[in-house]
Parts: sequence; C-alpha cells; structure tokens
Amino acid sequence: MNADVEFLEEGALAAVLTTQPLDRTLDYVVPDGGVRIGAFVSVPLGPRRVMGVVWGPGAGDYDRSKIRSIAAILDLPAMSAVMRNFVEKVAAYTMTPLPAVLRLATRVPGLGEAPGTRKVLRLTDVRPDRLTSARERVLAFLEEHEGMAFAPGELASLVGVTSSVIKGLEGQGVLVREEAPRDAPFLPLDPDLPGKELAEGQRRAAVQLREAVRSRRYGTTLLKGVTGSGKTEVYLEAVAECLRAGRQALVLLPEIALTGEFIARVEARFGQAPAEWHSGVTQAGRRRVWAGVANGQAQLVVGARSSLFLPYADLGLVIVDEEHDGSYKQEDGVLYNARDMAVLRASLSGAQVVLASATPSLESWANADAGKYARIDLTERFGAAVLPEMAAIDLRADPLERERWMSEPLARAVADRVAAGEQALLFLNRRGYAPLTMCRACGAQVGCDDCDARMVEHRFHAHLMCHQCGATKPIPTSCPSCGNPDHMAVLGPGVERLAEEVAARFPDARVAVLSSDMAMSARALKARIEEIAKGAADIIIGTQMVAKGHNFPLLTLVGVIDADLGLQGGELRAAERTFQLIRQVAGRAGRADRPGEALIQTHQPDHPVIKAILSDDEEAFWRAEAASRQMAGAPPYGRMAGVIVSGPEERETFELARQLAARARILTDAGAQMFGPAPAPIARVRGRTRVRLLVKGPKGLALQPVLARWVDGVRPRANFRIALDIDPQSF
Ligand code: ADP
Ligand code: ZN
Repeated sequence: MNADVEFLEEGALAAVLTTQPLDRTLDYVVPDGGVRIGAFVSVPLGPRRVMGVVWGPGAGDYDRSKIRSIAAILDLPAMSAVMRNFVEKVAAYTMTPLPAVLRLATRVPGLGEAPGTRKVLRLTDVRPDRLTSARERVLAFLEEHEGMAFAPGELASLVGVTSSVIKGLEGQGVLVREEAPRDAPFLPLDPDLPGKELAEGQRRAAVQLREAVRSRRYGTTLLKGVTGSGKTEVYLEAVAECLRAGRQALVLLPEIALTGEFIARVEARFGQAPAEWHSGVTQAGRRRVWAGVANGQAQLVVGARSSLFLPYADLGLVIVDEEHDGSYKQEDGVLYNARDMAVLRASLSGAQVVLASATPSLESWANADAGKYARIDLTERFGAAVLPEMAAIDLRADPLERERWMSEPLARAVADRVAAGEQALLFLNRRGYAPLTMCRACGAQVGCDDCDARMVEHRFHAHLMCHQCGATKPIPTSCPSCGNPDHMAVLGPGVERLAEEVAARFPDARVAVLSSDMAMSARALKARIEEIAKGAADIIIGTQMVAKGHNFPLLTLVGVIDADLGLQGGELRAAERTFQLIRQVAGRAGRADRPGEALIQTHQPDHPVIKAILSDDEEAFWRAEAASRQMAGAPPYGRMAGVIVSGPEERETFELARQLAARARILTDAGAQMFGPAPAPIARVRGRTRVRLLVKGPKGLALQPVLARWVDGVRPRANFRIALDIDPQSF
C-alpha cells in the first residue's frame, strides 16, 4: 500500500484487492472520472463480477491490452487508510492472506447492492394447504421473529430448509415479497445524561480515563477490579467522554449472551441503544450497522470480536470487557486475538483502549507491570456479593469413592444448602470424556518422562500417550510413584457423569446441567438460565460457561469438583486459566445478604495456584506465574507459534508434519526452537487428522518471516493443510 497516493486518474492502473482466495491484488484499468484509493468497486474476474477495494496503484508490468477495466465504483464510503493499514497488519501478523482478512471487514451480505432493490418476505393471513414439518418450522420462525424482515435465501438458511420450501409458501400466497424497509437511523446518544454518582475510587479512575480519551492519542489502560466493583460504570464514563469528543467507541464483550443486559445499561446511561454487532444480528441489521458505522451515525458499537473490523469513521475508544477471556481468540479462519488486535487498531487511529477484568491475562498484567499499559485498580465492591469464604477439601484426607466425584464434606454442604432452600453450583470444567490416570492412594499422576504433561489413556491402542511429544507407555498396573498396586484409576468425569452421581445422592433435588455443548439454541439456553436463576433448580452442574457473568441470586455454595484439572497439563496457560476460572466461579456464590461459600476439592492443597486462589494474594500469584514463564521463555516473555497440520488421512498427515520437522534448521538458525510433531489435543476433527508442531523463539525475534521461510518449502497436497497460529491459546 502506498500511503502517499490518494487518487488514481482515469486510464491508470489500479491494484484491486478482492475477497477471492488469491494471494495478491489484481490490476484493472481505472474508468472515466478516476477512482479514490480505498473505493469499493466491482471488477470482472473470469466470467463473474466480484467486489473489491482499490488498494493502490497497479504494477503495470504486463501486457496492458489484456487488462480489463473496473466495472463499477460502488456507492459505499471508501475504506480509510487506517482501515487498509489495519487489514494489512492483521494479515501480516496472523500470516493470513489479505483476502481472508478483507473478508472479515466486508462480511456484510448484499454490501454494495443498490438500496431499495432488496426484497424481504412478509407473512400474510393465508395458511398453507398442507402443513409439512419444514413449512411449520418456517412459520414458527417468522412468528417468533415478528416484525423482522428476512430475504428469501436468508430465511431458508436460518430455518434450515431448502429454498423450494420458501418458494412453495410464496406460491400459495402464505409469504409475499416486498421491498425492504428503509433503515432506521441511529439516534444520537447523549453523553451528558447523569450517570451514577461515583465512589471515590471510581471517580479517580473515571478522571484518568477521560483525560486519556481527550488526548486523542493511543494508550492502553488495564482496569482491574472484582466483579461488581463498578468497572462498567467507570468505563461508560470514558465512553461518554469519547462521544463528547465526537469520536466513535466500541465495547467488545466475550459472549453474545451478555449483550442484552449490557445494551439495557447503555440505553439507561445514554438515552439510546447502541449499534449491536454479533452473529445474532440479522442480515438487514448488519447492513444497517455497517453503513451507520461508516458514516459515523453509529457512535457506539457493542459487539463480538469481529466488530473490530467495522469501517469506523473515527474510532476513539475500544473497551475490551473480560479481556482475559479465551473466546477473544478466533480459532478458525483468521486466527487473531481480538484483545491484541484492538490494541493494534487503536494505535493506528490514535484511540484509547481499556482492558477490563477481574482476573487479567498474564499478558496484560505484564504489560502494565512493564509500564506499557496504565493500570487502575478498583477495590471496593458495589451492590454485588461479598467474596465468599473459600476453603479447600483435601481429597487425600477425604478420598473419593469409586466412580464418585463428590467428597463427603462437599456432599454434606450441598445437602445443607438444598435443605435451606438455597442453590448449590457444582463446577466441573469437562464436557467430554478426557481421562487421567492416577494413584488414589498417593495422588501421583502418570506423566510423560520428557514433557511436563499427563499421559492420556488411549483404550483402543491400549497404552498411555503424551500429547506433547507422542511418547507412549503401557498402562500401569501399580503406582509408579508409591508402588501401591490397588489404587490405579482412570478419572474422567464429565458433567453428565457427575449429574448421575448427584441424582443418586439427592433423589429429591432438582438438578440442572449447564454446559456449552448442550443441544439448545442461544435463546433457549438464556431462558433456561433465567428459570434456574429464579429457583427452578436446587443443584446446578456446570462447565466454564457458568463462570461468565450470569447471576444466580439464590446461589450460596460453589463446589469445585476438580481444582487439579488443567493444572498439570503442562499447558502454557494452565495455572493462569485455573486461577481465573476458579476465582470467577467462586465469585458466583453469595450476595450481600446471603454469605457464600466456595469449597475446592483438590489432591494438592499446597499447590501454589490452589494456595493463591485461597489466599487472595493475586499479585503474588502473577509474580510467581510471570517468573515461571520467564524461565521457560514462554509468552509473554517469548514468542510462540502453533502449527496444525491436517489432512484426511493419518499416515500422510504425519508425513507432511515430518517434512516440516526436517526443515527445523531454518528455525534453529534464527534462534527459535521446534517441538513435535505430536497428535493435536483434538487429534481428529470433522474426519480430519490433526498433527501439531510448536515453535518457540526469544521475545525480540521477528517470528513471522522465519516461519514463512520455513513453511514455504513444503507444499501440501490438495486437501492437506498447514495452519499457523501465532500466539496460540494453548499447546
Ligand atoms: P463490574 O463491571 O466491575 O462488574 P458494575 O459496573 O457492573 O461492576 O457494577 C456492579 C453493580 O453496582 C451494578 O449493579 C452497578 O449499577 C452498581 N454500581 C456500580 N457503581 C455504582 C455507584 N457508583 N453507585 C451506585 N451503584 C453502582
Ligand atoms: Zn512427552
């Protein structure tokens, strides 16, 4: 991209970037009247026409007579230089081809279609002659979404029926086509409506953030404070200041389920609803938001990570709420971390970033510690719960019975709460079957000799395997540590297995399982959670989804079934995630008027992470964790990239991975190290074998160019793939 040129005269060559899977821009002749760089255009490509963005002057190094012309300049606001720069930097950082990143920025159906030509369907009073189940689903969907307009193709795909079902209903007059209604404008938000009267700590925080926003320069602030400490009230003051400055603000939330409540708060604070952007927004809604963000009418966007790629006219502030949340990392397509890309986006447009969390990521903690980020701590608590009493249940002293995962003290505590008409939450962060082999007599777990990793039982192959390095061992019949022959066991309860135990122990209690893999729509899940919050269950069994933001006012006891889970995996973020998760889950127990209690089952009550969870000394935890990462050269004190090699068949996939491994010299010569290949944690996904490698390098190393050289020499056959994951969440 050439930042100096802004306009191309007619007859000149333009390099146009499209979203087609090509690894480069294509040259076209500029039509009459010339074209702005950044303009959205329609260009011929083979027999088709595709949308693209004028990315810069064309190269013009081939036969001009063969070059075709731009077919049309679309009536859309041009993509700003900041945005083009952002797209390029994201592509370079994530090592993704530009078109894939451009797709993130233009993922709006019908973008560029002339207004008024879009047809939507309306339900009439006519009933279909015959009610097939497909037809019934269409009608039920439209009734449920009354007042919303869907294009025919959109409706078919949302309901999951073929377009002939829709056509059939149209033919009978049950549905009619009409012109899409004009988009309602975004109404102005009023930053000067009174907010809550802030407490002293909040006020100081707000002053600091307002000042930062007024600077119109880039800067990042870590805003730390337990849930209920008033972080949201504080950062809404920063949003208010941003609106006063006439710039746009973006609030990123980690989960759609949390947006509803948040939108209501924004409306209460600023008098109007913000723009919403996430997978639950309709196509028409997306077009409206995209256009509103581009023309500046949408002053505040609340959304998921992809809202970073909206065409802001002038972005002045990005809030990343629950910044530690792993779901900010997009795990397919372009593998980017929205928290990090928010910082990049802000640095390009002179904007401020606020990272809010009760349990910050080590990355952000370290950046604040190093003075790269400002840090504000909120220590008082508002309205919400007082921190629960936390205690460990030492499972060595209270051993579990076979095929049971609740200790007696925990079971008694649950019985007490249920008898008192209160709720208990049992937290087990395990959905599937993921066994672990250990000795119940001494607590030893069978680990790999070469890695800091548990050996995982593979029943089919009848051995234990290390998922880090691929080493195997026979299944031990006695404990390798204490020699006891009688207590080797495979532990691996998922929440469903735990539910069986709970049902057997508490036959009269109402038990609810909340797990993200439940076959439920987001809507149904939300309704279910609301019912449970009102008291429809006595015992809630949940995975990490219960840790996020849902309030259960009747909940007074949290039982963590297995605090050791995830601690020993040798995973990069094992300690950090465990600390964050258990602290957050424990924080669900108790409100101001009902003191809560958290009981944490563990085989290792003296483990530094468990002690840190119980002791409340967070800084000590971060320092210890930082020191151990530093020793290991792990992020954020070293660079890391994951490589997933995948293919339809096991032998060849491993072979491809070994070809990469054979070129490790390129990495080691540059100062990096390579580990693997080994089966990926999920070794088979959608019928494909996945093998992984890991690359580690020192902090100062520019990892991407080295990786590019390394990978470029290996050409995967069709249907085999090498995917690079810069800054992987886990390995
Ligand atoms: P956090 O974002 O840290 O979880 P919130 O900003 O959501 O905290 O505040 C928690 C609760 O306390 C909310 O119900 C909020 O309305 C209330 N609250 C926060 N600050 C104040 C304040 N200064 N005065 C009154 N209520 C407040
Ligand atoms: Zn190993």
